[in-house]
This record gives sequence, C-alpha cells and structure tokens, in this order.
Amino acid sequence: MNVVLIRSRRKTLTLTVNRSGEVVLRAPYGVKKSELERFLNGHQSWIEARLAERNRNRIDLADGSEHVLFGRRYVLANGRAGIADDILYLPQEDRENAFCEFLKKIAKSYMAETVRELAEKYGFTYRNVRISSARGRWGSCSAKGTIGFSFRIAFLPPDICRAIAVHELCHTRVFNHSKAFWSEVEKIVPDYATVRKTLKSYQYVMGYL
Ligand SMILES: [Zn+2]
Repeated sequence: MNVVLIRSRRKTLTLTVNRSGEVVLRAPYGVKKSELERFLNGHQSWIEARLAERNRNRIDLADGSEHVLFGRRYVLANGRAGIADDILYLPQEDRENAFCEFLKKIAKSYMAETVRELAEKYGFTYRNVRISSARGRWGSCSAKGTIGFSFRIAFLPPDICRAIAVHELCHTRVFNHSKAFWSEVEKIVPDYATVRKTLKSYQYVMGYL
C-alpha cells in the first residue's frame, strides 16, 4: 500500500484517502516510524473500505461502456471527443480529462439553452450561465445573476436539469430559501419534493471524474 506521509506541527495522527486514491497520513513531527506503522495496521480495514467506496464511485470509461447524458444513451468508442448518433467518442489518452472537458462543453450549451427558454417563458432576468467542477451542489446563483451548474449535471435526467435551472432562476427573484422562494419554485415545478428525491438517488454522480 502506498502511503503519503505528511509531517507537520500537529498533535494528532489523521488518515484520509484522497480523490486519486492515495492514502494520506498526517502526523506530528517526532512520531516514530514504528508507531506510524502500528497506526496504519490498526486502520487497515478502514482504508480498504474507503478504497472500495472510491472504486464504486469510479465511472467506467472503457470502450463499449454506456453513458446517459441529458437523457440520451451513448456507447463509448475511441476517437476525438464528440458525439455522433448514439456513439460518444473519447480519446484513449487521458480519457477522464477529455470526458470532463467534453461534459463542460455540452453542459454549457444544454443548460444555457434551458435557462434561456425558461427565462423567456417565465420572465426571469439573469446575467449568464457558467459551468463549474463543483461537487457539492448542482447549481448556484450569484447575487449578480450568474447562474452556475456543475458539469456533472449532464448525468441527470432532462426534467431534473430543468427543475434545477428553475430553482436557480428563482434565486434571481428571492435570494434565499425562504417560503417565498419555494412558492416561486413551485409555481413552475409543483412537485419539487420528487426532484429532491431523484437528486438523492443521483448523488453518486458527484463522485465521478
Ligand atoms: Zn437554492
């Protein structure tokens, strides 16, 4: 097992497994190697559980794997990043990165269009649409009216993407999560409880890429 040891002026030992699957051990200066080893051995099953969890969250990007983006199913094949009919092309080299970049691109055009249509239909004003790599949330709205979405939104069904866009657009009218806010949302998406439930079931997507 590969362990990254970081010593600093701390008082305790802490163990984490980071996004790239490295086991990171933070330790105070002066703790003996034998003590570190004992600590690691004692946490072996915890480490294994974290690593297994991480692998479960890993997206399968092998040729022939299937991916649903904005509700459309694609089969992955080798090639320059792009979509043709029901084939999603991604280069073999640095595929995860290429997929991220491609998702950012399609999320930008899809969500910008969704927001534009909703704003026109329901009379919202906003500034622009941005795509981020945020893991913590699907959407955001700045005080200046910039609507943001995580590129991972591409993995959600279209009606959920629309509901998230509605949520963020409603923040241009009510900048909090008060009763007044939810009543604005529910004028357009009456059953937001179902949206929330669906989002919970897609939470694993946040661990992708
Ligand atoms: Zn909100």
